[in-house]
Amino acid sequence: ALHVHHDIASLSPYVPGKPIEELQRELGLSRVVKLASNENPLGPSPKALAALAGAETTLHRYPDGGAYRLRQAIADRWKVAMDQVILGNGSDEILGLLARAFLAPGDEAVMADCTFVIYKMEVTAAHGKPVVVPLKEWTHDLEAMAAAVTPRTRLLFVCNPNNPTGTMVSAEAVRRLMASVPEDVIVVFDEAYFEYVRDPHFPDALDYVKRGRNAIVLRTFSKIYGLAGLRIGYGMTTPEINGYLNRVRPPFNANTLAQRAALAALGDDEHVARSRAVNAAGMEHIENGLRALAFDPVPSEANFLYFDVRRDGRQVFDALLREGIIVRHIEGPMLRVTVGQPEENSAFLHALKKVVA
Ligand code: PMP
Repeated sequence: ALHVHHDIASLSPYVPGKPIEELQRELGLSRVVKLASNENPLGPSPKALAALAGAETTLHRYPDGGAYRLRQAIADRWKVAMDQVILGNGSDEILGLLARAFLAPGDEAVMADCTFVIYKMEVTAAHGKPVVVPLKEWTHDLEAMAAAVTPRTRLLFVCNPNNPTGTMVSAEAVRRLMASVPEDVIVVFDEAYFEYVRDPHFPDALDYVKRGRNAIVLRTFSKIYGLAGLRIGYGMTTPEINGYLNRVRPPFNANTLAQRAALAALGDDEHVARSRAVNAAGMEHIENGLRALAFDPVPSEANFLYFDVRRDGRQVFDALLREGIIVRHIEGPMLRVTVGQPEENSAFLHALKKVVA
């Protein structure tokens, strides 16, 4: 018989969606609209695509394991030193590196009860103990999270804006958190949706890193830069924390194509601006549409909306799927929909109206 630790056996594998073409065939539809994974509906940064041209001739070589040019560009952009920047195979991977580097068996990691599912998975896989704190009004309750810290706490996750609720914590709330959390706890600011935020009270979490606090800011090229398929994200932290992350980082975790595309995407302010504008307009479109159906979406700073369908959410999800619209069922009556292009948003609202009629 296999010897498997119960922490590993307790995990559920991430359930991947079916390929779109497969679904289309099964459902007998000519078009399926995917609004399930908070991807950029405009596609990849055009500059990133252009940068990929010619790269194929170098694919027999290993990537630059130090990702020199990309880390340098990120460091310049955010005014940190190069030794403060780490790349990951998606920011997902950096979450795993954090758990691997800093959790010994039984160490605790504080997180919200309704947040990005990977935190719990990585903490458990590293034999750590997730300490789960309820949201308050769909938002991280940072006071309660600070109160949940014990001498065994090593990591505290702040998903800002939060996936799946879209809410953010303010600069003031983060200031109070940082004043009350012991200096040796690493505060992880997961800012995957940073570039979409419009609220001026969004905290400057990177400033805590710059002032030497034990913190890390995670960003990604998967969302506004439109490069989810290449798997590349980054972290900015203290040189000391980065040194430990690099001890457990696979040497070639950021591949050649991802590094090239990300470097170009980082300089594509035009794509970012257009994506933000399309998102803002689409968000308003969906919010208005949901309100017209008497649903009440949670105000969002990200590129998705979280809303209560006041009936079995799984059934609504399945019915939408049969209409060719893929959203995300979170739990109970709660669904999450990614903002798409105008016609995708209309198709979603039209199908939802039909489904809940
Ligand atoms: N953090 C949050 C909050 C996310 O929603 C996601 C993507 N779903 C990630 C991290 C991971 O993104 P990636 O690995 O594609 O960089």
